[in-house]
Amino acid sequence: MVRDGQAALRVVEGMICHLEQSGLFNAGLGSRKQLDGVQRMDASIMEGYSLQAGAVAGLEGFCHPISVAKLVMEETDHVLLVGQYATHLARHFKLEKNAAPKKTLKRKDLKLAGLGKSKSMRLFKKMTQYDTVGAVVLDSFGNLAAGASTGGVPMMLPGRVGDSPLIGAGVFADNTAGAVSMTGLGEGIMRLVMAKQITDLIKSGKSPKQATQSTLKELVTRIKGGQAGCLVLDPDGRFAIKHVTKWMSAGHWNGKGKPVVADRFS
Ligand code: ASP
Repeated sequence: MVRDGQAALRVVEGMICHLEQSGLFNAGLGSRKQLDGVQRMDASIMEGYSLQAGAVAGLEGFCHPISVAKLVMEETDHVLLVGQYATHLARHFKLEKNAAPKKTLKRKDLKLAGLGKSKSMRLFKKMTQYDTVGAVVLDSFGNLAAGASTGGVPMMLPGRVGDSPLIGAGVFADNTAGAVSMTGLGEGIMRLVMAKQITDLIKSGKSPKQATQSTLKELVTRIKGGQAGCLVLDPDGRFAIKHVTKWMSAGHWNGKGKPVVADRFS
């Protein structure tokens, strides 16, 4: 809950920009590469007052896909722009370019350092399988917003697009129901339209926890290999952070004291 009157949307953009900039996550500077060696990023953002949304898919060469998604929402009549056309928009508005892609250690370097099969390496691989960044925010005006930004999943064919830029699948926000940001294997998340399913359940009277639990249960029982985690917030400020992956780093803050941060939530 943000109490100082900042609009939820700006806070979502700001937080995600920070994570994209860090190079630590699979988003923005730290995005994975598709199998042809190119980073193609997906992002979306939505606000719950008038249900405006913007998204980009397959964006190349810019640091902040979330800001390009917000430009689509605010400066165009559309919701989703893809590939070179999303890139043209970012260039037109002179957004910051991703001039120096993050250098990651190659498998060969890890083997040379004796880390290839180490316990730490195995743990690191498990912890960083899905590293999309996302945020959900409720501001003091009662407005909800949600966003997500990603470099995709391991071993992607060039041109693959996940759930993150798909409104209703990876991201959804509606002041009358809730705000959701998803992470995990997009191929499963999009087939169950998970973000919208969670907010529909909240609207029908379920708590964020119940809505999230039952949607995640449906994912693992109905979709082979389905894996996901979600950030969920309702119009009263009740929230759920849940995952069926082993790890999910996340934090929450209610406007007072210090934020709570952890890498696992029950
Ligand atoms: N959901 C993202 C995708 O499928 C990946 C992730 O959450 O890390 O593109």
